[in-house]
Amino acid sequence: MKAIGVLTSGGDAPGMNAAIRSVVRSCVYYDIKVYGIYYGYQGLINGNIEELTIGSVGDIIQRGGTVLYSSRSEEFKTPEGQQKAIDQMRAFGIDGLVVIGGDGSFRGATKLSEQGFPCIGVPGTIDNDIPGTDFTIGFDTALNTVIEAVDKIRDTATSHERIYAIEVMGRDAGDLALWAGLAAGAESILVPERDTSIDAVLEKVKRGHERGKRHSIIMVAEGVGSAVDYANYIQEHLELSTRVTVLGHTQRGGSPTANDRVLASRLAAYAVDLLKDGQAGRMVGIENNQLVHDDIMNVLNKKHEIDQDLYALSNRLSI
Ligand code: ADP
Repeated sequence: MKAIGVLTSGGDAPGMNAAIRSVVRSCVYYDIKVYGIYYGYQGLINGNIEELTIGSVGDIIQRGGTVLYSSRSEEFKTPEGQQKAIDQMRAFGIDGLVVIGGDGSFRGATKLSEQGFPCIGVPGTIDNDIPGTDFTIGFDTALNTVIEAVDKIRDTATSHERIYAIEVMGRDAGDLALWAGLAAGAESILVPERDTSIDAVLEKVKRGHERGKRHSIIMVAEGVGSAVDYANYIQEHLELSTRVTVLGHTQRGGSPTANDRVLASRLAAYAVDLLKDGQAGRMVGIENNQLVHDDIMNVLNKKHEIDQDLYALSNRLSI
């Protein structure tokens, strides 16, 4: 392995910079050239590529977003686009690629692997929706952002005796809603992986109110539906004051937590190790605090599941 490229693709996540830094510093450590590819796959096609040195990644470990920027590329989904990407890498002498991103980005990486170009995927997404790893880079930071917001909302919910429906990110995955709901003491948690009837939520709010609770927090993953609809339904049926907060993109930003920085540093360094050892088409992950790797296709063919025990616990604690 003479030169490695690194790119970030798809949705950004806090900790991606720590991962980029780790790729670059690991390459320097092994005396392998390293190239930063800007704007994801589209930048790869366009040759937006620059050699990085040890100093290029100074002062970024604490920053959110990605210094390599990200993009979504339709052109890369075509065989012609993929060939251009490979030609660009060959022109720069790049013989291995680290892709930091989510499942869409990994689908892209498999296309390069199919053409015989070695790629390793590093899971970076706040959704924590990638099988083959217990945690993805960015999840812990997003989680902390959500609970900080919920703690603040709870103050005003209590003061005004209100029901708050809080919508968090997660179109297909309920991890953020589940973990944040558990950590912030939400009364109800709605995730796309489980059916929860609105009437069950209503019943819980009613019981709590009769018991003298001054507020209720309902955590809604966006994939379940709009928090506005849930709030309206409750207001209509219980005549309790309800409010909605949609946390939106605040969840994607901010300085990464220590956990995300360490996770990103470990996973990305491991990706370089694998490329150096001649591995290709793998995704790195962490399971029971051990670094692991699996075939990317295998990972993509699995279905993400929420943690069953945590879900049961959240129900037990919010009776
Ligand atoms: P994420 O990695 O966050 O899931 P996306 O789903 O937007 O993000 O994917 C990022 C990029 O990966 C896409 O814009 C596209 O260029 C590439 N990509 C996604 N799916 C495929 C695919 N099936 N074939 C080739 N490239 C893909």
